[in-house]
Amino acid sequence: MGKNAITVGDITAQPGEIGQGFIRVGETATSAVQFPIVIVNGSNPGPSLCLTAGVHATEYAPIESVLRFLAEIDPKDLSGTIVAVPVVSMQMFASRCGFVSPIDGLNLNKIAPGGDGSISEVLVRTLLDEVITKCKYHIDLHAGDLGEMLWAFAGYPLTGNSELDLEGEALSRLYSPRLICLSQDGATLPPFSGSIVHSAAQRGVVSILAESGGNGTLEEEDVRVHLHGIRNVMRYLRMVVGQPVIPGPQIAATGREVTRAKRAGLLRLKVGVGEEIKDGQVVAEISDVFGRIIEEVQVARGGITGLVWSHKAVNTGDPVVRCWYTKPAPRFAKTEHYVATAEDACAHA
Ligand SMILES: [Zn+2]
Repeated sequence: MGKNAITVGDITAQPGEIGQGFIRVGETATSAVQFPIVIVNGSNPGPSLCLTAGVHATEYAPIESVLRFLAEIDPKDLSGTIVAVPVVSMQMFASRCGFVSPIDGLNLNKIAPGGDGSISEVLVRTLLDEVITKCKYHIDLHAGDLGEMLWAFAGYPLTGNSELDLEGEALSRLYSPRLICLSQDGATLPPFSGSIVHSAAQRGVVSILAESGGNGTLEEEDVRVHLHGIRNVMRYLRMVVGQPVIPGPQIAATGREVTRAKRAGLLRLKVGVGEEIKDGQVVAEISDVFGRIIEEVQVARGGITGLVWSHKAVNTGDPVVRCWYTKPAPRFAKTEHYVATAEDACAHA
C-alpha cells in the first residue's frame, strides 16, 4: 500500500521523513503569534495521532515529554503519522505565564472551539481546525499549573458515540498509571466543556486529556508517566511494535471536591498528592502571624488527594486540597489483558 506526503498548514513531510515549522495565527506589536509543529510521517501506513503540549506553557513535564518523544522516534519504525505541537502558547512559554495568555488574559483550555475574537480564540480555532481535527487520535498533555501539585490521571469526555467512546476509554486506561476520569456531561468532571479535548471529541476525534507533573517543575518521574502513556497508546494503535502494559488495577473517578481555608496565615501541609484521606482528616494547619494555630483544615469527605496547592500563605477561601472520589474501574474488554497481575510483577522481579 502506498503512502502519501502529509501537509499541515505550510509544512509537509514525505513518507519516512520529518517536517517541521510554525503555523502562524496572528501577531502582537512585537512578534508573530505562532506555534511550532512537527510532522513525523512514518514509512508505513497507519493512523494519525496528534500530540499537544503547552496549552498551559508553564506545565513543563508535558513539553519535555513531547520533545523527548520526538527526539527518539524514527519515521522508519513508524506506521502512520504523528503531528506534534510541543508548545501551543509561545507567549505563555516566553513570559513564564501560568493559566492564561499574557496577551488577552484568556485560558486556552476554557474557550474551545475558539473563534474570531481575540488572539487566544483565534489560536484555539486554528489549532483545532488545522491540526487536531486532521488526525484520528489526539492526546492533550497537561500537568498541574504553577502552584499546583498533581496526581497523574487521564480523562476522556464521553460523546454518546459508542465506537468513539470505547476508543477514548481505551486510550485513557492505557495512558494513566492508575486513575481514569470519564466525563459524562462536561460539567462536574474533566475534561470540561470548553476544553480543547472536549471540543475535539465533539468533532469526532478520539481525544484524551493526559495529566502528570506540576508546580512549575520538570521531574523525571512525571516525564516517565507521559512517555509511557504515549508509547502505550502507540503500541495499542499498532503505530510501533510491542504490547501495551498497564501497571496494575485501575480506579475510575466518580466526583471530586476542593477543601478551602477558612482562616488566613501560614499554611503547613500534612499531606501530598495521591494519598488516601479519611472523612474528617486534618490535611493542613494554619498559623497566624503570632504563631497560634487558628485552623486545622479538615476534609469533610475522604478520597484521594488529586491536587494539593503549594502556596504557603493562605487567605480565607483559598484552595488547599482537592480530593477525588473513586471506585474500582470496571472490567474493560479492550484493555483488560494488558493489566499486569501480581504474578507478572513477581515473574519479572
Ligand atoms: Zn493544563
